[in-house]
Amino acid sequence: MGNYLGAVKGMIDLQEDKTIDPFFMVADLHALTTPFDPTSLRESIRNVFVDYLSAGLDPARSTLFVQSMVPQHTELFFLLSTATTMAKMQHLPTFKEKVRQHPDHVTMALFNYPVLMAADILMYKANLVPVGIDQEPHIEVSREIARKMNQDYGLDLPEPQRFATQGEYVPSLTGEGKMSKSVEGSAIFLTDNVETVLKKVRSVPTATISGGEKSGGVANLFVFLELFAPSEVARFEKEYQAETLQFSELKECIADAISAFLKPHQERRAELSKDQALIDAQMKEGAEKARVVAQDTLNEIKQAMGILF
Ligand code: AMP
Repeated sequence: MGNYLGAVKGMIDLQEDKTIDPFFMVADLHALTTPFDPTSLRESIRNVFVDYLSAGLDPARSTLFVQSMVPQHTELFFLLSTATTMAKMQHLPTFKEKVRQHPDHVTMALFNYPVLMAADILMYKANLVPVGIDQEPHIEVSREIARKMNQDYGLDLPEPQRFATQGEYVPSLTGEGKMSKSVEGSAIFLTDNVETVLKKVRSVPTATISGGEKSGGVANLFVFLELFAPSEVARFEKEYQAETLQFSELKECIADAISAFLKPHQERRAELSKDQALIDAQMKEGAEKARVVAQDTLNEIKQAMGILF
């Protein structure tokens, strides 16, 4: 859900803008930067693709593809890695966070994550990148790499900006940090049913009495309320300040709103999943379209760097 509100919602808004020719991908190579299970990865990649379609991304209006099906990304990644430093990568907050989470899995792939992301962005000369606020330091890396490549090789790569959504930071159900699919008990999944959503929202830690400064789980519940049931904020805020708020009622209201939001998504997902051949065809077609643009950019950069024959 964090992914949907911070990133996919922005993709849909960009798709609505007729002046934009958007490219969106399932970042499966990035999924290899933390521990993964090869037996379920293929299925997960398809699931994300179907989630994009269910959320409203439309192959007729956006180029939708799977990153690993466009091998130009890994080639450009290497070329761009010449334009940044190890010191820069080491100090990124996201890198430090992953090192804390997976101390035995600090691979070169993890270290290189932001450079691969720069390749994903600069490949399509993107001006706007719909990602959550946690990705801002990576967008900054992409800008720095673009500037350096432009300076050193006379290129004209645009410096990308983050395209922010209202849900640019969705907090965790645990009351600490951001909602994350890889942190136990932290996330609501787009596939969660009504009972699961209610159970998860009920598990958000709250104080026994209301009133005063909001923190932890209580603050997060109000963020969820703002995102999913904005018309209810004033009423619950008033009750909170009057110290009459029933947290169980607040949680039920949030859970209902989240389930109502998930229902149409899940219905579309069930419908689309019936036609796997169509999904395969859309994945193939999207990759073919992306490869054409990707190869043009790659050739331009290789030419400028003196390695195109
Ligand atoms: P991840 O799921 O962490 O690989 O991130 C995929 C995309 O979803 C990135 O653009 C993130 O910024 C965004 N995202 C993930 N979790 C959240 C969250 N809790 N709030 C807002 N955006 C998020």
